[in-house]
Amino acid sequence: MPELPEVETVRRGLESHLAGRILERVDVIRGDLRYPIPDLGAALRGQRVLSIERRAKYLLFFFNGVLLSWHLGMTGHFHVLSRDVPAAAHEHVRFLFDDGKTLRYRDPRRFGYAGLLPLQGWRQHPWFRDMGPEPLGDEFTPEYLAHCCGKRRISIKQILMDARVVVGIGNIYACESLFRAHIHPVRAANRISDSRLQQLVREIRQVLMEAINAGGSSISDFVCADGKPGYFAHSFRVYGRAGKVCLDCGGEIRRIVQAGRGTFFCPACQR
Ligand SMILES: [Zn+2]
Repeated sequence: MPELPEVETVRRGLESHLAGRILERVDVIRGDLRYPIPDLGAALRGQRVLSIERRAKYLLFFFNGVLLSWHLGMTGHFHVLSRDVPAAAHEHVRFLFDDGKTLRYRDPRRFGYAGLLPLQGWRQHPWFRDMGPEPLGDEFTPEYLAHCCGKRRISIKQILMDARVVVGIGNIYACESLFRAHIHPVRAANRISDSRLQQLVREIRQVLMEAINAGGSSISDFVCADGKPGYFAHSFRVYGRAGKVCLDCGGEIRRIVQAGRGTFFCPACQR
C-alpha cells in the first residue's frame, strides 16, 4: 500500500510531466472503483493542469476550474506514457493531454477512488475537513504535538496514528520514528518530556524525507512503459524485523499488537 512518501514521489513525478498541459479527453474503461468515479470527461475536458499537490495520501490535481482528488487505495498506480502505448491490464482510466502524453490509472484491486471538488472550499469536504496538519508542514511542531498529547493517557503510537492529530505517518513510519527517538511505543502520550517530543518530531520529518528522497530515484520506473510500479523498497530498522537483531544495540526486535496494528520496537533502545 502506498504510504505518504510514495504518494509524494508520485506527485513530484506527475507534476513534472503534466503541469501546464491541457486535457483533451478522458477515457474511462472501468469506472467502478471503490466508489463510482464521476463524469471526468464532462468536468475536465479543455482544462489546464495548474499544479498537482498532495494532502495526506490524496493526490490533488488543480485544474483551472475544478479540483480532481485521487486516492490510490491499495494498489493504484499512475503512469505517464505516450499515446501509442497499448493499454495494460487493469488500466481503468486514461487521460489524453495536448502534448501527446497520456496519464494512465491502473489498479488491480480497485480500492482507489476519485472525486471532483470545488477549487474553493475543498478543505471542507468530508475527506479532508477533520484532517490534522501535514507531518512535513510548518504546523506540525513539538509544541503542537505536546498540546495534542496533553493529558491523554493513550499510547504515543496511537497519537501518531491519529489522522486528526497528524496525517500520513502510518504504521511503518510511526514505528521507525519512535525507534529513532528511543521512545517506547506503548508509553502514555502525557508522560513524554518536551525535549523527547522535540526529538520525535525531528525524527518523523527525517524518516519521511529520507523515504521521499529514496523514492526520487525510482520516478523513472513509473513514467516508463515497463509496467513496474514506481514504489520503492525501503530499508527499515524495526518495521517487519521481529526476532531480528537490533542494529543499534544487538538486542532482539519485538512485535506487539496495538489497536489492531503490529508494532515493531526494541525493548532495550526504547523507553
Ligand atoms: Zn536496540
